Amino acid sequence: MTADFQSKDFQSKTGARVERLPLARFTTLGVGGEAEVWFVSDHEQLAEAMAAPYRILGGGSNLVISDEGVPERVIRLSGPLAERDLTPDPGLSGSGGDGIVTGWVGGGVPLPGLVRALQKLGYSNLEGTVGIPAQVGGAVWMNAGTRYGEMFDGLHTLEIATPEGLKVITPDDLGWGYRDSGIPRNHIVTRVRLKLQRSTPEEVLAKMTLADTARKGQPKMKTPGCAFKNPGGVGAGRLIDEAGLKGTQVGNALIAPEHANFIVNLGGATAADVHALLDLIRARVNVPLELEYELWPDDALRQGAPASAVTQWSAELK
Ligand SMILES: Cc1cc2nc3c(=O)[nH]c(=O)nc-3n(C[C@H](O)[C@H](O)[C@H](O)COP(=O)(O)OP(=O)(O)OC[C@H]3O[C@@H](n4cnc5c(N)ncnc54)[C@H](O)[C@@H]3O)c2cc1C
Repeated sequence: MTADFQSKDFQSKTGARVERLPLARFTTLGVGGEAEVWFVSDHEQLAEAMAAPYRILGGGSNLVISDEGVPERVIRLSGPLAERDLTPDPGLSGSGGDGIVTGWVGGGVPLPGLVRALQKLGYSNLEGTVGIPAQVGGAVWMNAGTRYGEMFDGLHTLEIATPEGLKVITPDDLGWGYRDSGIPRNHIVTRVRLKLQRSTPEEVLAKMTLADTARKGQPKMKTPGCAFKNPGGVGAGRLIDEAGLKGTQVGNALIAPEHANFIVNLGGATAADVHALLDLIRARVNVPLELEYELWPDDALRQGAPASAVTQWSAELK
């Protein structure tokens, strides 16, 4: 890989902290080699970071990052861009007291803590996203959600950094839909204002419990979530289970015995281990499966390994 790293950690011209770090520590799978990580805490630092090829990393909960890392700068929102102001904005909130529009919530804010804080305040609209280990920016970019609700249920305004500059838009300006915000790749969700309904902590908690209960069968180990989308309404996990692959291990990665659509890191797994399992699943399940994860650096790998490699792994694992 042709990475052009500075040899030492440094502070950029505008004051961003830049460190060469293993990306494994920023992903829920705990896998990923090194990259130059730019911790940006304001718009000026962000503009500087975006002046060379970059990627934006959120909670790392939908990523399988190569063991070699990535050659681009990896931007992490920090400081004020990872803080939240949930105070109702008097100019934007409904006069009847029902509709609340909050102050700015940074793209780098962890979603689980935000959902808990909203529950305590008795503010409804985002409780369906409980249990999604994302950052706000990543969850908005994917329109993450469950059958109980999704991010766009609670968005009023979005601030987005684009190569052409900063834009403030509303959801109506985007062609958003199921697990898709319509925001182009590498445009960065820097902050949002939330649009919420006044409820009570008890009612919000009851809805959260419903969404949480649906997760009970999921493994508790390090994982990037579901591996494959459900093809044509059939559970991908069921298909993988029926192919006899539950509990299959390659290196230190395992197809979870609790739920076959989850690959978990037993400790010390590599991206290569995970790719081998993904390719094995594709080879053994007779229905074409579309990957849920994003693969860094090369999303082209979504197509899987060459057939010859898969045949070899298949044979070894029989
Ligand atoms: C245990 C577990 C359970 C999960 N359950 C669900 C679920 O119920 N529903 C669901 O939808 N998903 C679920 N996921 C998947 C994942 O949490 C979501 O896809 C989430 O939206 C990823 O957000 P992130 O911040 O972690 O983004 P990352 O994984 O860091 O990045 C994913 C993509 O978002 C981009 N991105 C990140 N931050 C920003 C930003 N600020 N601006 C623009 N783009 C950005 C990245 O560049 C990348 O392209 C689950 C994952 C795990 C591990």
